[in-house]
Amino acid sequence: MSNGIVYLVGAGPGDPALITLRGMECLKIAEVVVYDYLANEQLLNHAPESAERIYAGKIGGRHNQGQDEINNVLVEKAKNGKIVVRLKGGDPFVFGRGGEECEALRNAGISFEVVPGVTAAIGASAYAGIPLTHRDITASVAFVTGQEGKEKNESNIDWDRLSLGGGTVVFYMGVTTLRHNMQRMVEHGRSPDTPVALVRWATTPCQQILVGTLADIADRADECGFKPPAVTIVGEVVSLREKLQWFDKRILCGKKIIVTRAAEQAGEFSVKLAARGATVLECPTIRLVEPDSWQLLDLAIRDLQNYDWLILTSGNAVRFFFQRLESLGLDARALAHCRVCALGPKTADEVRSFGIKPDLVPTDYKAEGVVEEFSRLDLLNSRLLYPRADKARDVIPRELKLLGAHVDSPVAYRNIFPERLPPETLFALEKRSVDCITFTSSSTVQNLAAMLGEELMLDMLKGVLVASIGPITSKSCRDLGLKVDIEPAVHTLDALATALEAHFG
Ligand code: SAH
Repeated sequence: MSNGIVYLVGAGPGDPALITLRGMECLKIAEVVVYDYLANEQLLNHAPESAERIYAGKIGGRHNQGQDEINNVLVEKAKNGKIVVRLKGGDPFVFGRGGEECEALRNAGISFEVVPGVTAAIGASAYAGIPLTHRDITASVAFVTGQEGKEKNESNIDWDRLSLGGGTVVFYMGVTTLRHNMQRMVEHGRSPDTPVALVRWATTPCQQILVGTLADIADRADECGFKPPAVTIVGEVVSLREKLQWFDKRILCGKKIIVTRAAEQAGEFSVKLAARGATVLECPTIRLVEPDSWQLLDLAIRDLQNYDWLILTSGNAVRFFFQRLESLGLDARALAHCRVCALGPKTADEVRSFGIKPDLVPTDYKAEGVVEEFSRLDLLNSRLLYPRADKARDVIPRELKLLGAHVDSPVAYRNIFPERLPPETLFALEKRSVDCITFTSSSTVQNLAAMLGEELMLDMLKGVLVASIGPITSKSCRDLGLKVDIEPAVHTLDALATALEAHFG
């Protein structure tokens, strides 16, 4: 068997969107991913489901021994012909032991490539609003390990130059050694008044910043129990933050928002809220599963040439329908004689992704929108296929039958609810630290009530803002005793995110 390859990929500092396109390409073809504590786990979702995921923190015990074992895993997996992605926080070659891993691979005759990443100092600089260099302030910057020189009598760091050179200094791994390093800079000549910023979990919703001076930052950090991982930025540039900060100024910053959705759908909406600064707690209340039986849908699919219209009212309906089509050995050509109606632009996009241009896209995003559009057509004796969720309302079949159509509405997927809430979400609800909960369909709220019990749900959501995507979902909320605080005029996720922004802004 020929050897595989190892890609050392920089995952970026935390925000998963900061990985490079090349890094993403590698992840998408990975057969094995060996990832670090500091690499955002959300990135693993981009690797194929079949890829083996190995948490490097679990390999080996002590530090150095652990590194040898990681090297061995990389070598062995690649020797078995695998495409291995070694996903490392920040950049692989900045305090990432990427050099050692490459040496081990070269010694073993394994091919490798290195994909750079946004290193923590750069991520922290951007998201804290602290330019590391500035024409009027400083022309140089140094990245320094904070772990050096504590035990060693002989340090590899040239403290004199670092301190007197006047450039910006960024310490990595320097929270536990903060006091020592700050003192050293002062002893070697940097003014004790020099501004310092600690940036923890840079670029993530948990980003935390503490500002002080060389003289007092260690006391301040002790006072608030400041913990790693963080970088320490030392230099006059830190004072620019007052004017340039932006990340912590976004409207939803500091707001904890629960997103109740089907697990496989939550991502997109969560990303929108996180981009506006929110801390998003995902709470899957729906799991989409196959129907009890495919029989009715299969019959319809095999008879597609005899239908006039296919009506798809959600992205889920589209996905389950086309998956089934494919399972039956068919593809989009089976729809050659059938027109397609897609409810709303998102559903239409999903339909297009399967190579079909929808003929009709009602812009009122409710079942009633479909009925209204169809009421303009002559439907007498036409045959309509409406693959639906098991709990879908019966508005479409009922009303379209009244217009003279034959409507078949086989179940294409079922909504079931998971048994419990994710621990993080439950914990936040119990601690009463949640600001807002969003419901994007009736089943999200009904299932949450079923998961928690109605009484407990009402109790836990006391004082929590309720945001609902539209009137039908809102009615379901009210039926369960919840007061709806936010409902956008247009019933899309974008509009819901904007409405939240307007509310908190
Ligand atoms: N290769 C990584 C650094 C690994 S060393 C990179 O290029 O960023 C680990 C140190 O990186 C941590 O102790 C901390 O100082 C820093 N670090 C990594 N991610 C960070 C983050 N999101 N916020 C602040 N510091 C981070």
